[in-house]
Amino acid sequence: MASPRIYLDHNASSPLRPEAEAAMIGALKQHGNASSVHGEGRAARRLVEDAREQVAGLVGCQPAEVVFTSGATEANCAALGRGWDVVYMAPIEHESVLAPVRGSGARVVELAVDQDGIVDVQGIADGDLPTTNVGQRALLTLQMANNETGVCQNVAAGAALAREHATCVHTDAVQACGRVITDFSAIGADLMSVSSHKIGGPMGAGALIVRDGLARPALIQGGGQERRRRAGTENVAAIAGFGAAAVAAKAELDAEMTRLGALRRHLEAEISKSAPDAIVIGGGADRLANTLCVAFPGELAETTVIKLDLAGCAISAGSACSSGKVGTSHVLTAMGLPPEIARSAVRISLGWNTTESSLEQFLSRIRGLLIAERRAVA
Ligand code: PMP
Repeated sequence: MASPRIYLDHNASSPLRPEAEAAMIGALKQHGNASSVHGEGRAARRLVEDAREQVAGLVGCQPAEVVFTSGATEANCAALGRGWDVVYMAPIEHESVLAPVRGSGARVVELAVDQDGIVDVQGIADGDLPTTNVGQRALLTLQMANNETGVCQNVAAGAALAREHATCVHTDAVQACGRVITDFSAIGADLMSVSSHKIGGPMGAGALIVRDGLARPALIQGGGQERRRRAGTENVAAIAGFGAAAVAAKAELDAEMTRLGALRRHLEAEISKSAPDAIVIGGGADRLANTLCVAFPGELAETTVIKLDLAGCAISAGSACSSGKVGTSHVLTAMGLPPEIARSAVRISLGWNTTESSLEQFLSRIRGLLIAERRAVA
């Protein structure tokens, strides 16, 4: 019997949680439009509003601050694509942050990044202060955790500094949400993007959290859904699945941080034993418990990914969100890694269905590869 595949690519997409699947199947039977006033419509509306409370419970905001979207790419575009004169941003942000900002016509002030991937938010204070330019609308966009390295930023500290300089704050919390505490109110952000499929909900759902009182132009215009902040008939089943995943992720958050942290440390230690020249990226920074970005000098990341795929394991080379892309990671480049090291870096990301035994099997398969490579080089 073929051994089961081992999926360690939760930062690309986390498998659907059973709770989310059950909620979606139930919701698919509700055929009402959530905007209709009849009983069927009200039943669909109830599912959407329950999910709104569940997502708000996970991210620490008011339910009314949750605007459902088709995912975090849309949330980032809605938050960033228009309405700002100055944007402070580091080059390690996800493409769905970089592209709308760069295309918006705002003046972009690039924040520096150190070798561990930590963003220097002091750039807000050093720059040409927006407060001195009366009427300028300034924004800091600072990711909470990086999708490739798992490196976490201190968004609360960045937000406090931003506030001193009359600057609003957006955070892309896609990778952090459900993996560390992401408390929108406590952080003091104005806008936050989250995605359903990184927490075990379905793909194609997400939310932009918009601070109560902050006016943002709707990216998608049309009907009055989502309090006129995002037009379009709600995808009730996907939203219900997102809500159920949020409840499950919140319930196990503390225990999972500890469990996955221990597994990741074991993984890292064992890989370093088999490949002493392996380089752990972002190792000096606070990282998500589930993420390991490691470079194997001399071996192209794509080759490692393919070899492991053939051995029954799914990991990725750098950011695999738009898979098929071969190139040097903009994140690792911004961290100052030499191109040959950046091109040898793979990302191993654990999640809710990663067990100790599946990790042991992964280790035995990767050890086999690493040893074979060393023999080939010797
Ligand atoms: N931001 C980050 C940090 C991500 O990792 C991703 C997904 N890879 C996104 C945004 C986009 O999310 P979605 O897939 O929901 O559009």
